[in-house]
Amino acid sequence: MTLPGSPYLAYKGADLYMDDVSLRDLVRQHGSPLYVYSRRAMLAALAPYQRALQGRSHLICYAVKANSNLAVLQTFAQAGCGFDIVSAGELARVLAAGGEPGKVVFSGVGKTRAEMRLAIETGVRCFNVESTAELEVLSEVASELGQRARVSLRVNPDVDAGTHPYISTGLKGNKFGVAHELAVNTYKRAAALPGIDVVGIDCHIGSQITEVAPYLDALDRVLDLVEAIEAAGVSIHHLDLGGGLGITYTDETPPGADELIAQLLTKIDARGHGHRELVFEPGRSLVGNAGVLLTEVMYLKPGEKKNFCIVDAAMNDLMRPALYEAFMGIVNTQQRGNDAAVETWDVVGPVCESGDWLGRDRQLNVQAGDVLAVLSAGAYGMTMASNYNTRGRAAELMVDGRQVWEVREREAVADLFKLEKLLPGA
Ligand SMILES: *Cc1c(COP(=O)(O)O)cnc(C)c1O
Repeated sequence: MTLPGSPYLAYKGADLYMDDVSLRDLVRQHGSPLYVYSRRAMLAALAPYQRALQGRSHLICYAVKANSNLAVLQTFAQAGCGFDIVSAGELARVLAAGGEPGKVVFSGVGKTRAEMRLAIETGVRCFNVESTAELEVLSEVASELGQRARVSLRVNPDVDAGTHPYISTGLKGNKFGVAHELAVNTYKRAAALPGIDVVGIDCHIGSQITEVAPYLDALDRVLDLVEAIEAAGVSIHHLDLGGGLGITYTDETPPGADELIAQLLTKIDARGHGHRELVFEPGRSLVGNAGVLLTEVMYLKPGEKKNFCIVDAAMNDLMRPALYEAFMGIVNTQQRGNDAAVETWDVVGPVCESGDWLGRDRQLNVQAGDVLAVLSAGAYGMTMASNYNTRGRAAELMVDGRQVWEVREREAVADLFKLEKLLPGA
């Protein structure tokens, strides 16, 4: 069986390793639940983007919300990446990790004035603006600072990315972007505003996209717009084609980033836009299969209708199954030889919700005390974690070969209510 995350995640004998470290050993030393990421796997996921764009003016902006740990951001900053951020908090993380503000693009439908001010003062490269109302506020904020904000409009190409409704963003009914029909006029409006410099165009049609076709459709729609916008006298420098490339969780077969980009470049060149700078905003495809969530089996609870394998990680640690009914691979970090002992389990956490499951109907040979690995957990895992049920968030480790660094401490219970106050009086 080839695991998602291979070759950086693989069995050596009976034990599951990430790079050159045994995952079971990591739990012995650092406790459970535990997120572990491979720096090598991240850089290996980045490489096909870099290769495909070599020789072109381009910027790969890692989408911070997929995994915002400082060490992850540092890894990508050192590899030359820029960043796609959606809040002032993410901007602060990028700066703390050594990222360059001049390589940051700021996305999101609801940027506050304070966030705009901070981003302009910090010198971010571009705002991806999502509405006329936002454009006007941004122009005001920039003018107050005596500056002009560099802007690309996020256009909504109205294409179906064929993904889960919660992570599809390029359809008419979505809250994202400026409608295709309104884009030219919105660009004219932008160009006329005193605090705005138009520099590009942007689209991001969704996440976990496993086909090239929706990207090509969106690209055609965007290039149509670029031509119409330039005909109306507003010039466009860069094309930002967003992120969204999917990964293999189970049997998905997404194109490689190099294949996707090669096809996009062919169309861009054929339509005479080869001179433009290209921006991409990948998140999941850079980190998803570079991480696992390790969790210890606490109790086995066989039942009449279902067998429950109760583990110490829960929906608060990893929300994707509860939120999207997402499938994530689950394996034992120690293979037990005896196939006759394989049974069907629902892997569930301790949180008081029936939605608190990590995997359903999984074939596992498992005993209390075993350590399970939830696979493909490097993206939208820790960043979506919460303290529900007053559970401290997991620790995070980064490995590279034999080296292991703790890149976030386990959250202590005292931290969870240190901002709260009792009422005065008796
Ligand atoms: C979330 C997001 C991304 C990254 O999406 P992935 O599916 O993780 O690649 C890129 N751009 C924008 C605007 C986003 O909101």
